[in-house]
Amino acid sequence: KTRVYRFGNKTADGNRSMKNLLGGKGANLAEMSAIGIPVPPGFTITTEVCTEYNELGREAVIALIKDEVEQAVASIESQMGATFGDKDNPLLISVRSGARVSMPGMMDTVLNLGINDEVVQGLAKRTNNELFAWDSYRRFIQMYGGVVLGMKPESKDDIDPFEEIMEHLKHKRGIELDTQFTVQDLKDLVYDFKDAVKKRIGKDFPTNPWDQLWGSVMAVFNSWNGDRAVYYRTMHGYPADWGTAVNVQAMVYGNMGDNSGTGVCFTRDAGTGENVFNGEYLINAQGEDVVSGVRTPQQITKLGSQRWAVLATIDEQERFEKYPSLEELMPEIYNELNEYQEILEKHYRNMQDMEFTIQDGKLWILQTRNGKRTGAAMVKIAMDLLKEGMITEKEALLLMEPNKLDELLHPVFDTAALKRAHVIAQGLPASPGAATGKIVFFADEAAKFKNSILVRIETSPEDLEGMNIAKGILTARGGMTSHAAVVARGMGKCCISGAGALKINYKARTLTVGDKEYHEGDWISLNGSTGNIIEGKVATMEPELSGEFAELMILADKHADMKVRANADTPNDARVARNFGAQGIGLTRTEHMFFEVDRIKAMREMILSDTVKGRKQALEDLLPMQRSDFEGIFEVMEGCAVTIRLLDPPLHEFVPHQLATQKELADEMHISLQAVKNKVAELEEFNPMLGHRGCRLGNTYPEITEMQTRAIIEAALNLKERGIVTKPEIMVPLVGTVKEFEFQKNIIVNTANAIFEERNETLEYSVGTMIEVPRATLIADLIAEKADFFSFGTNDLTQMTFGYSRDDASKFLPIYIEKGILKVDPFEQIDQEGVGQLVKIGTERGRSVKPDLKVGICGEHGGEPTSIEFFYNTGIDYVSCSPYRVPIARLVAAQAAI
Ligand code: PEP
Ligand code: MG
Repeated sequence: KTRVYRFGNKTADGNRSMKNLLGGKGANLAEMSAIGIPVPPGFTITTEVCTEYNELGREAVIALIKDEVEQAVASIESQMGATFGDKDNPLLISVRSGARVSMPGMMDTVLNLGINDEVVQGLAKRTNNELFAWDSYRRFIQMYGGVVLGMKPESKDDIDPFEEIMEHLKHKRGIELDTQFTVQDLKDLVYDFKDAVKKRIGKDFPTNPWDQLWGSVMAVFNSWNGDRAVYYRTMHGYPADWGTAVNVQAMVYGNMGDNSGTGVCFTRDAGTGENVFNGEYLINAQGEDVVSGVRTPQQITKLGSQRWAVLATIDEQERFEKYPSLEELMPEIYNELNEYQEILEKHYRNMQDMEFTIQDGKLWILQTRNGKRTGAAMVKIAMDLLKEGMITEKEALLLMEPNKLDELLHPVFDTAALKRAHVIAQGLPASPGAATGKIVFFADEAAKFKNSILVRIETSPEDLEGMNIAKGILTARGGMTSHAAVVARGMGKCCISGAGALKINYKARTLTVGDKEYHEGDWISLNGSTGNIIEGKVATMEPELSGEFAELMILADKHADMKVRANADTPNDARVARNFGAQGIGLTRTEHMFFEVDRIKAMREMILSDTVKGRKQALEDLLPMQRSDFEGIFEVMEGCAVTIRLLDPPLHEFVPHQLATQKELADEMHISLQAVKNKVAELEEFNPMLGHRGCRLGNTYPEITEMQTRAIIEAALNLKERGIVTKPEIMVPLVGTVKEFEFQKNIIVNTANAIFEERNETLEYSVGTMIEVPRATLIADLIAEKADFFSFGTNDLTQMTFGYSRDDASKFLPIYIEKGILKVDPFEQIDQEGVGQLVKIGTERGRSVKPDLKVGICGEHGGEPTSIEFFYNTGIDYVSCSPYRVPIARLVAAQAAI
């Protein structure tokens, strides 16, 4: 068995397909070398050795790989013309970790290894650069000391022991920057560093290069089980036995003078996707100098440099003299780099992010990987690569990260403004987008300012209108399926929920975070994509739905076979959904129509009346309003199926809870305040989510079902008269027994028949049920005998399967996730192991009696990528999600089918 894979000099033992064995970095280094890209020669110790190390320990593993490693080092020596540990012509090397997936900052690196008191002299002589040689030595002791010998701060508020020594010297010498150290300073530092190591660990700093090498390799293996890596692994569900590979490579130096440098470059623009080579570099510098911002990096291309000069408001002359591009300064190196970037992009068939170093006029490529990019760039790059013939349609679709499409659909913060933003707290990124406005604490005051942010402990259906007016919604309580979150996503409105650090005082109209207090009218900004709450105003920009976006959607529909519908409660929502390509409405929550100001009165009258007659009277007032809502939705969705769900929430949500409003209602209805109070108390429930709601309402108040059926059927008939085709689907919520459904179905069918008779006209419609009570999934075969279709309400199904209240779970779910008791919030991603199995069972049992039973999903999971993929594999016909998630679901449906 081979445990060490070599690369360099245009050859390699491994290749890019061996990520599991060589890690991502190692596999790409091998691949680059094999296709002729100049990478510093080196070798990769496989991930399997990491596992062997964990089982056998240090000595046994060194015995296993010693020969292979020694031969590989000899091979680097002959390629670089220098010798490891040689005091006249020394080779220095680097040791880096590299797991099969990139785990940013999770594991350790040691650079400049193979140096000691003698080697440093040789290095100085050989490079004719004493400062460089001693600086390398200083950096090595610092890195090796920290990573391998554990010279770390002793407690959280302690400073790094090496930094402390450096600070001390800077102070003594009256200087500020590391770059101001003289050779003598660096020599003093090396001495003091070694002294500090000896004091702390009681042993001399290792001077033998081979001891340094083995120490570093073992440290990388250990880092796989370090706190940071374990946390990251658990979070992403990566198994411990993956292990990490170790990459050992010849050092190349960008800090050897003015003929050296280092930089980072991208084959295309990672922000916009534009097909222009771009990047930054610094002359006479090491890697971290470019990113750290101590010096202003220069642009790689002349074009980039000119664009940058405009932003930096400097003239052409100054630009050319002070900040020349690599293209102008080192044209030959630039041409070579340009050639490699083209080769690498073609080879990987994806935008690449590369690191390079120029050592004394020779170019080395240190790394290449698929570059991170914005949502806009993601779409443009994939569609461009497709047009350029570099990738196939399927590959273009698979290049998409579905959730990133979201960025394209909502207003976004100006990136430059965001950099200066002051984040005061964080909540759940409940609904993406960017919102800036003045704080209001009450929904009915949302219109007080032109731009307002509604800040609530939590929202209730009564707040709907205000939520619609506000630019964004912020709540201190509630999870991803809380009222605020669901409604906001539906509206495509930016929302952050469950921001526990907020203390809201309605009476004083203040919002307190830590010791800072904000008042009504103060500006705040919400980043719904990250959950960041920002003080003050942040500039936003409107998103552009570019031509490529539309092209992408056409492509997705071509490859998908699962349909995507939308959850929409109003004609306006339906219009948005249709524009985003929804192929129907999978859920209209009719209760949302009752909450509007002019309607809630009739609704309350209905609830407060003690007689059937009184209720019917009030319902009569509601009928025309509902009918016109349905007409509006049917019209927008002409020709498409529209699923309308009968009233679902418990009645107590509709009655007023504040004394003033109770009084108002009593006056209007000419009844006593006490009567109103009594009714409100009577409707109060301990567990409203498990209470008098869903079909339990329709079965106790059949006149509600009658009225709603009438509104639906009459609306459809009215449109039929106008020649507009409708496909109404009437849906019964929260069914748990066959009888519950049958009772509702009877009312619906009888009402419809009565209307057909009245109008002497008929219509096709279907009557189906939500499957959201666990019991319903188990008796799905019995239900399917009576129901025309199923739609899984995975919100309630998750609530009842786990026994986690949708309203209150945010109190403990974050802790569960932090402790690893749950991997993710099950209200966000479908729990495939449990709740998902119920969806599977329900579908199978339903179809066992009705093979072509139409089955959909209308819970929040219908818009979440991992869930959509699961539903596709379960044989679901369609998913239904918020209008703004429709494009994402269409894309995932295509990816799932590929
Ligand atoms: C569900 O329970 O998944 C559902 C769609 O209904 P609601 O969220 O309105 O309870
Ligand atoms: Mg439900």
